[in-house]
Amino acid sequence: MNQPLPHPSAHEGAAPPTAPHGRCPAAAAKDPTPCEGPHDAATIVDRNGREVAGCVQHCARLLAGLEGARVHPFVPAQHALDIYSRARELPPFAWEIGR
Ligand SMILES: [Zn+2]
Repeated sequence: MNQPLPHPSAHEGAAPPTAPHGRCPAAAAKDPTPCEGPHDAATIVDRNGREVAGCVQHCARLLAGLEGARVHPFVPAQHALDIYSRARELPPFAWEIGR
């Protein structure tokens, strides 16, 4: 009895959940703007503690319309500052008025 062990199946890791339209999870469905930079550049935490990872662009847009939300403390300060300064200049749900 010298049977070789079966090879472990070639799993390349679980496929990441694909966001609609191939954008980051922070992109609102009605927001037509494309992602900017990596899709996991930052994480937004909403007032209920729910975390959403996304690119800098969509995290900023999400933050602008999400009352009580903040950038996750693990996000590098440079990204967090970028997001906060963008969000400050955005109206909530910017895409609804064509921005
Ligand atoms: Zn994005």
